[in-house]
Amino acid sequence: MLIALQMQSLEANGHKQSSKKVSQTEVKAESTQKTNASKELNKKPKKKIYVYICTGRYARVFHATNYCKGLSRCRGEIKEITLKQARYIGRRACRICYD
Ligand SMILES: [Zn+2]
Repeated sequence: MLIALQMQSLEANGHKQSSKKVSQTEVKAESTQKTNASKELNKKPKKKIYVYICTGRYARVFHATNYCKGLSRCRGEIKEITLKQARYIGRRACRICYD
């Protein structure tokens, strides 16, 4: 009788271990799928990103904030445009705000 009980508990342990392994691999697969999905979301943001540019003659960059040090030297106007527009007119990201 004792031996039979021990056998049963051993079997139960074996089952637990094997089921644990399966669940771990399942979790891993799910997490990789999730990270892939979030990367795709980052590539195509629905929300428009606004940046700030100086309309001055020597301005070549766009800024993340309108209180950037780079904009304090601006001789023209500070305009708020979308990131897409800024790229379209050939602006680069400011080294001060996009560090
Ligand atoms: Zn800046």
